[in-house]
Amino acid sequence: MAIASNIMKRLQGKVALITGAASGIGESTARLFVKYGAKVVIADIQDDLAKKVCQDLDPSSASHVHCDTTQESDIENAVNTTVSKYGKLDIMFNNAGIAGSGTSNILDDKKSDFERVISVNLVGVFLGTKHAARVMIPNRCGSIINTASVCSTLGGGAPHAYVSSKHAVVGLTRNTAIDLGRYGIRVNCLSPYFVPTPLAADVVERIYGGVSKVYKFLDGAELKAEDVADAALYLASDDSKYVSGHNLVVDGGYSIVNSAMCMFENSQK
Ligand code: NAD
Repeated sequence: MAIASNIMKRLQGKVALITGAASGIGESTARLFVKYGAKVVIADIQDDLAKKVCQDLDPSSASHVHCDTTQESDIENAVNTTVSKYGKLDIMFNNAGIAGSGTSNILDDKKSDFERVISVNLVGVFLGTKHAARVMIPNRCGSIINTASVCSTLGGGAPHAYVSSKHAVVGLTRNTAIDLGRYGIRVNCLSPYFVPTPLAADVVERIYGGVSKVYKFLDGAELKAEDVADAALYLASDDSKYVSGHNLVVDGGYSIVNSAMCMFENSQK
C-alpha cells in the first residue's frame, strides 16, 4: 500500500511547463503529471481548448498561459508566469509541433512552409530550453524533455521539413544535455511512432493513404497518447535521474526494421 502511494507521488512537489498541451500528447501528459502530483502550466496557442483541459483537471493544479513557442517573448513570459505562480520550474516539456503542408517531393515544397515547420518544431524547442535553463540553473536541477519523433531516426517517414526538424531536435537535445549537465539539468527527447492526434491524422491520410496502411511491427498493442505520456513521466521523474542526452524511441520496433529486407512473415501492417 505504501509502495503504491509512493509511486503515485512520483511528481509530488514538482512544477511542469508543457507546450502544446491543449491537445494530443501534451494534453495526455498534463493529465498524467497532475495525477502523479505535479503542478502543471499548459502553454499553447489554442486558448479555449487549453482552458477546457485546465477546468477538467483540478484548477489548483493546472493553469494555462497563451504561448506561441516561436516567439521568444511568449516563451519567456510562460516560464516567468510559471515561476511566479508556483515558485520554480522543475520540468520543461517542449512538445508543441506541427506537421506542415510539405510533401515528400522537394520540387513541390515551399520555402515558407519549410521555415514555418523549423520555426515551431526546432526554434520553439531551442527557446523553451533556453528560458527553462535560465530559471533551472540557479537551482542546479531540472528535467527538460523535447518531443522529437520516430522520424528523427530515419528518412522517408514524413515530409522533408518535418523529418529535418525532428533530426535537429535530437542534435539540440544532445548538445544541451552536455551544456546543462554541468548544472545538474537533464535533457532528453521522446520519439513516438504514429499516434492518432489532430497533427497525425492529416499526414497519415496524405502520405500513407489512411491509418490501416501505416506499418506495424508489434502485434496486440496500439500506440496512444497516454503511452507517450508514460514515457514523459519516466523522463520527468527521478526514476531517470542518470538518464541524459537520450532519445527515448516509443515505436514498437518500427525504426529498427528495414522493411525492404524483412524476413519475418506478417511483420507489417
Ligand atoms: P496535436 O496537434 O494534438 O498537438 C499539438 C499541439 O501543439 C496543439 O495543441 C497545438 O495548438 C500546439 N501548437 C502548435 N503550434 C504551436 C505553437 N507555435 N506554439 C504553441 N503551441 C503550438 O499533435 P500531437 O501529435 O500531440 O503533437 C505533439 C508533438 O508530438 C509534436 O511535436 C509532434 O511533432 C510530435 N509527434 C507526434 C506524433 C503523432 O503521430 N501524433 C508522432 C511523433 C511525434
